[in-house]
Amino acid sequence: MAKKQFKAESKRLLEMMINSIYTQREIFLRELISNSSDAIDKIYYKALSDDKLVFNKEDYYIKVTADKDSRTLTLSDTGIGMTKEELENNLGVIAKSGSLAFKKENEAKDGHNIIGQFGVGFYSAFMVADQVTVTSKALGSDEAFKWESAGADGYAITEAEKDSIGTEIVLKIKENTEDDNYDEFLEQYRLRAIIKKYSDFIRYPIKMDFKGQRPKEDSDNEFEEYEEEQTVNSMVPIWRKNKSELTDEDYHSFYMEKRYGFDKPLKHVHISADGAVVYNAILFIPENTPFDYYTKEYEKGLELYSNGVLIMNKCADLLPDYFSFVKGMVDSEDLSLNISRELLQHDRQLKLIAKNIKSKIKSQLQSLLKDERESYEKFYNSFGRQLKYGVYSDYGANKDVLQDLLLFYSSKEKKLVSLDEYVSRMPEDQKYIYYASGESIERIEKLPQTELVLDKGYEILYFTDDIDEFAIKMIQSYKEKEFKSVSSGDLGIETDENEKDEKEQDANKELFEAMKELLAGKVKDVKASKRLKTHPVCLSTEGEVTIEMEKVLSAMPN
Ligand code: ADP
Ligand code: MG
Repeated sequence: MAKKQFKAESKRLLEMMINSIYTQREIFLRELISNSSDAIDKIYYKALSDDKLVFNKEDYYIKVTADKDSRTLTLSDTGIGMTKEELENNLGVIAKSGSLAFKKENEAKDGHNIIGQFGVGFYSAFMVADQVTVTSKALGSDEAFKWESAGADGYAITEAEKDSIGTEIVLKIKENTEDDNYDEFLEQYRLRAIIKKYSDFIRYPIKMDFKGQRPKEDSDNEFEEYEEEQTVNSMVPIWRKNKSELTDEDYHSFYMEKRYGFDKPLKHVHISADGAVVYNAILFIPENTPFDYYTKEYEKGLELYSNGVLIMNKCADLLPDYFSFVKGMVDSEDLSLNISRELLQHDRQLKLIAKNIKSKIKSQLQSLLKDERESYEKFYNSFGRQLKYGVYSDYGANKDVLQDLLLFYSSKEKKLVSLDEYVSRMPEDQKYIYYASGESIERIEKLPQTELVLDKGYEILYFTDDIDEFAIKMIQSYKEKEFKSVSSGDLGIETDENEKDEKEQDANKELFEAMKELLAGKVKDVKASKRLKTHPVCLSTEGEVTIEMEKVLSAMPN
């Protein structure tokens, strides 16, 4: 039997799995069960649009069987199954979504961390098994095939016998070693606990056979052994449960299970709305920026369910661009299952949900800023730039939603402050909100233009992001205070000095003329100024566009 090699990337991941000393290896069961559940979903979804296919709910389930004698753990499902090609393509190569993240994370973290950081799908089986056999028969096919692998040295696919459509996975559980005991993965009660912990909300029954003892009929003191099939999971999706029944841990498990991210979310929002539109939603604010977040590849969106059935993986219409970092799902009974993408865009219910969600996210972020400053700053370091883009785009149409969520580094506090904090500390005589732009905080601190403002005891906001100044131009003013660049011609604090400036100007007229000639084409004018304390000269601008903005604009592709 010819063995095929795994693709390089899959091989690396497999090796990590095999050598894993990761303590949470129990998650392999979650991964396999969620694959089975996805496979049943696929049949269910197909049946919706295919009259010839009937979906009888009771025919669909996942079964978990452990056999201590042969040290095997078997998972079978009545899902859509895999053809020979699918076995090859799906199990020979690590799933695409995971692999990208894997590559990126791999550079920064060591192997054990990676496994903890994110679900790795099917291959996690190799954390507990030294041999994995997958037998599958695809919907619409008469043939079954078997995929077998004992680890990183490759896999083989051969013809097989299987009566029903679906997939059966047999794990040969590893032998115990001095340091490692794998017996727990053959214990019914332990398996049941793992299923309860990670897969309780799976929509299809996860069945197990339980052995027990019961009193014999017609006898008071004799017992008999019996075996009974039980459904282990409650099948109630987490979003239909009562908030008060759920712990942070439950939400985190759901986040992991759903692959919303590989971090621990900073915050979750559980919405059960029954007003003008009825829906349930669980939303997450991630802690870390996904590696592709600020690229074109990143796709925003929430999972959309219609009455418990997934109808779209990433419904973009549910999130404004400036909240594109939000992950999660929405389930509504008011949406039709067969609704097309085009129609969905114009759906009134969906628009209402989107509007509702937007304001929930905003208030969640506001309370994070108010009550959990440290968490908010973490969030802001990851996604603050997106908020600023949001202010800038659509000609500032969203500034009211977003301006209270912005933070900038303050010359006074030496940390991030909000506009509200800035304005509430302004001395009576201060007219403007001052800012200075530059590449970094250190650079800005050395700018001669900041001297006069700092000397006056006024606070300056430091803009180190390209987008900062553009965003601020859209806001124009905050609580009736206008923004002012420290490099603008009129700082609004030189009034009583203006006269002296003029005298100075006259006294040095010839010198300034000569300098102007020398710098022709580079500067518009050379003037005396009282704003400088220790520096001999500085550049300033007139009008709307500052030096920093000019730099950004000229760096932009036309
Ligand atoms: P993911 O679930 O993220 O796609 P996995 O590594 O868990 O990644 O699974 C890889 C692929 O293998 C799945 O996308 C699916 O196409 C296929 N697969 C795995 N298990 C099953 C199963 N029980 N039934 C049908 N297809 C499966
Ligand atoms: Mg999977």
